[in-house]
Amino acid sequence: MRTCARCKSMIPTSRLEVLPETQTCVTCSGVQKYVGAMVYDHKTAGRVVFVRPENKQAVHTLTRFVNRGR
Ligand SMILES: [Zn+2]
Repeated sequence: MRTCARCKSMIPTSRLEVLPETQTCVTCSGVQKYVGAMVYDHKTAGRVVFVRPENKQAVHTLTRFVNRGR
């Protein structure tokens, strides 16, 4: 269990699953935008992957990954 670094409210477990390093809740993280996409690296289940927009290489890789999956 983790609490938000800004508003001290509890960060949902589902958020921690996709963003294990996050220090803020959904509301507070709105300030710091992420690029997110569903990645289907298994046939049965997709997962949401988030990268920082300033990380151009990661965005490029993610875009390619998503396009390949469809
Ligand atoms: Zn918060």
